[in-house]
This record gives sequence, structure tokens and C-alpha cells, in this order.
Amino acid sequence: MTYDLTDRTAVVTGAASGIGAEIALVLARSGARVALLARRADRLAELADKIRADGGQALAVAADVTRDLTEAVTAVHETYGRVDLVVNNAGVMLANPITDRRADEWTRMIDTNLGGVLAVTGAFTEDLIEAAKSGPADLVNISSIGAHLTFPDFAVYTATKAAVTHLSANLRTELGPKNVRVTNIEPGFTESELGDHIDNAAVRDDLGSWFDGVGRLTSAEVADVVGYTTSRAQHVNLRQIVVLPTRQV
Ligand code: NDP
Repeated sequence: MTYDLTDRTAVVTGAASGIGAEIALVLARSGARVALLARRADRLAELADKIRADGGQALAVAADVTRDLTEAVTAVHETYGRVDLVVNNAGVMLANPITDRRADEWTRMIDTNLGGVLAVTGAFTEDLIEAAKSGPADLVNISSIGAHLTFPDFAVYTATKAAVTHLSANLRTELGPKNVRVTNIEPGFTESELGDHIDNAAVRDDLGSWFDGVGRLTSAEVADVVGYTTSRAQHVNLRQIVVLPTRQV
């Protein structure tokens, strides 16, 4: 699907793969200029080339959302000016029994899934508030249905997503009155690279069997929801969206 996002300027974090790459594609196909952020520069360059070959506009910005973002934010502003659509999608899901005390994984998930969302939101909120004075402005956070569910070995991941869901709800109290939409999207099982970084074979197998049990969405199907919500009339805010494979309960 495509939507009308003509003249919009977007930043999508985690655009190197999975849901983020598909969000970048749907936004670009819908007419937005799209800045692609993630750590893997080669993947971003490939995606930017593909978008341009299809007639869209894209800028690859290699950046780590857990580190200083000054250069990345400057690159976006210098190329595209003010941003009016921010998608906080970058995330990691590392899972192990809590008794393994994997403080390295806990820190990475908290820093990326929550700290990264805060850093990127902080960097572009003034843009969004300014943009909202003359047209739509969107902050979209990709949380997870894990914000509400419990899965053994995924306690820290689901806790970071619960934090994102609550952050989104609370940010609306500040940004909604300024005409900035805040949309929190909670996908269920979705095909991507997310589970590939789990280093515990038994936990990876569990994840695979949960996915096999109920099926999975494609990343493009989740991305489509972002295209839909951000292209509504400015006064319409789908603030909380749960998108699941039909058989996932
Ligand atoms: P992927 O692993 O395919 O995508 C994750 C993206 O985040 C990659 O582009 C990765 O790129 C980027 N990323 C990771 N760490 C950083 C960092 N420190 N700085 C910048 N970018 C980073 O998985 P998904 O597409 O599934 O994940 C996207 C989002 O969707 C995540 O927030 C995830 O929690 C959420 N989600 C996914 C579900 C699923 O079942 N797949 C279900 C519910 C929510 P790079 O490595 O190049 O930096």
C-alpha cells in the first residue's frame, strides 16, 4: 500500500533490517523524504539506493542510538531541514534466564530500547512541535505486545517495551496539546532478524516454536500500519495499536 505523505520528512531508526527497513520503504513510496538510521552503513546504503531507484528520497545515516547523536542529527538537518515524522523502531531482544545474570544484555536492551528512544525523541521533539504549527507531526514508537504479556526468559526485554508503551502514553500529555501525534505500536510475532541475536540455543528454539504455533506477520505488514496512521488528518491520532498474527492471543 502507499499513502499520501507528500512533503513529509521522516527519520526511521533501525532501518537496516526488518520492520524499520519496511517502514522506510512505505514512507518513501508514499512521498516522504526518509533519513535511515542504524549502525550497519552497508545495509543503509543498499536500502537508500533501492529507494532512490524507485524514485524516492532517502539519506543513509550510520548511527548508534546508544551513543552521541549530534553528528547524525546535524546530517539529517543539513540535508532535509526540519523533521516532522520520527519512528523510534531500533531495538534489540536478548533473552536468557534471569539466573544467568546477563548484565551485559540487560544494559544493552535498556540503553537501546529505552535510552535510544529517549535520545532520538529528545533530538527531534522541537522539530515536531514547530512542524505541528503548520501540518501533521508524528512521533511513532515501536513497542511490542510484550509490554503486556509475559514470556519466560524475556523479562528484561518485555520490561523495556512496557516502559516504551507507558512513555508513549505519557508523552501524549505533553505533545498532544501541541498538535503532535504520539502513536505507540505493539506488534506481535513478526518475521525479522530480531531473534537472531539470542545466544542461548534453547531459548531461540522456544521462540521458534511460539512463532510456529501461531504464525507470524511480515515486517511489511507492520510497516503498513505506520503508513496508515501517519497519513490520517492531523487531528486524528491512533494513539495505541496492537497488531498481531490472527492466531496469536
Ligand atoms: P531487526 O533485528 O530486524 O531490526 C532491529 C533494527 O534495529 C536493525 O535495523 C538494527 O540495525 C537496529 N539497531 C539495533 N541496535 C541499534 C543501535 N544501538 N543503534 C541503532 N540501530 C540499532 O528486528 P525487528 O525489525 O523485529 O525490530 C524492530 C522493532 O520492532 C524493535 O524495536 C523490536 O523490539 C520491535 N518488535 C519486533 C517484533 C518481532 O516479532 N520481530 C515484535 C514486537 C516488537 P543495526 O544492527 O545495523 O544497528
